[in-house]
Amino acid sequence: MENKKKYEIVCTGLNEYGLGEFRIGKDIYSISNLLPKEKAIVEANDYQGIKKFKLVKLIKESNLRSSVPCKVFGRCGNCNLLHMAYEDQIKLKYNYVQKAFNDNKLKIKIDDVFKASNLTEYRNKMQVAYRYYNKDLIYGFYEDDTHRVIPFDNCLAHTKEQNEIAKAVLKIMKELKLTPYDEDKRTGLIRFLIVRYAYRTKETLVTIVTNGKIFPARSEFVKRLRNSCPYITTIVQNINTRKTSIILGDEEEVLYGKGYIEDILLGVKFNISSSTFYQVNSYQVEVLYNTVKNYLDLKGTETVIDAYCGVGTIGMILASQAKEVIGVEQNKKSVLNARDNAYHNKIKNIHFVIDDATNYLEERAKVNDKVDVLVMDPPRSGSTEVFLESVNKLAPNKVIYVSCEAKTLARDLKILLKNYKVTRCGIVDMFVNSYHVETVCLLTKK
Ligand code: SAH
Repeated sequence: MENKKKYEIVCTGLNEYGLGEFRIGKDIYSISNLLPKEKAIVEANDYQGIKKFKLVKLIKESNLRSSVPCKVFGRCGNCNLLHMAYEDQIKLKYNYVQKAFNDNKLKIKIDDVFKASNLTEYRNKMQVAYRYYNKDLIYGFYEDDTHRVIPFDNCLAHTKEQNEIAKAVLKIMKELKLTPYDEDKRTGLIRFLIVRYAYRTKETLVTIVTNGKIFPARSEFVKRLRNSCPYITTIVQNINTRKTSIILGDEEEVLYGKGYIEDILLGVKFNISSSTFYQVNSYQVEVLYNTVKNYLDLKGTETVIDAYCGVGTIGMILASQAKEVIGVEQNKKSVLNARDNAYHNKIKNIHFVIDDATNYLEERAKVNDKVDVLVMDPPRSGSTEVFLESVNKLAPNKVIYVSCEAKTLARDLKILLKNYKVTRCGIVDMFVNSYHVETVCLLTKK
């Protein structure tokens, strides 16, 4: 049973994710869009004994509050720190990483803080859903943790062109009477629009995800979209008829152009298609990879393993400064993409292995292979004990750990610190207005 009750509360401080904390009786709760010392009315949604709160009204505002230039702030779930000044966001991220180290009794100092140069229009991929809302055709982002579509007019995190394309598609759908997908009934045609943009080459890939192969008035759709947005380089139709929350299907047809776009990161070219994994902030990813490069300071004689390599970006960027690079990744599609990229860039001293990183490293440690440098960039869940013990056994001179979750980084470092010390540590802000942050650690032997 749902039981909604309102409370007047005062924010006692921020938690590590930037949520405002408050007390009701003895219990501490947290909510987004609330700053220390602010007074507010909140509403409790009591569901099966778990209280979830919603901000109803701010009664007293903090003078640290930034004006929020977004009408769907707090609902779309993308930019949870938009009400905080950028400097305060950076402090929060710094403290988040430092706390993760301290909680694990690690005496690591953060030496470098790489702030974002672009606070708006930094996302190279926009993904929106089209739906009927009270019989009106709309597009928007998914609300946090739900499939409810939150319509928006103009998203500041995305480029002017991405916003323009989303609007143009809406207009053309209305003109051609194309229907949006209905998740419950599994009817309707257009499920999603994805717009990917390559900052260096200015190429734009538009993917229309449809619920079925038949796309009425398809050539007229393409003609009108190209007329409205002539900067689009390629358009593809992705077919996804499955009842799933996975956005893309396996089948694709190129409707215009070459079907993929090309981007350049630190001088290396990468082909990006609808399904390619690619870091979302092109400006800051160069800063991240440059940090890896600078921390490592390779001499050209080293054998480097790039574990959890994705489409091989880090390894390929390091290849010109190393003797050889081996990329290890379990996702087959990413490895095929990585091999293509290496071929097109004429990088000959790199090869890729499709394997579980733990399995691969354990095997190499068993035969006591010589590895000079290990780069690891695991997902949020971090690495495994067996992987980390294998690193200790292989004993490369230098290890770089790139992490998107400081808590698992700290947990994993405890194992590596048996043989290594952290010589340099930096944080890179890839995700402006969110609490997420990338951490890079250089480890050298004790
Ligand atoms: N270094 C890359 C990708 C990092 S994302 C970049 O900067 O773009 C983490 C990658 O680890 C993903 O590509 C994911 O598929 C891969 N991965 C996750 N678990 C893995 C495992 N057990 N073994 C190998 N790769 C794994």
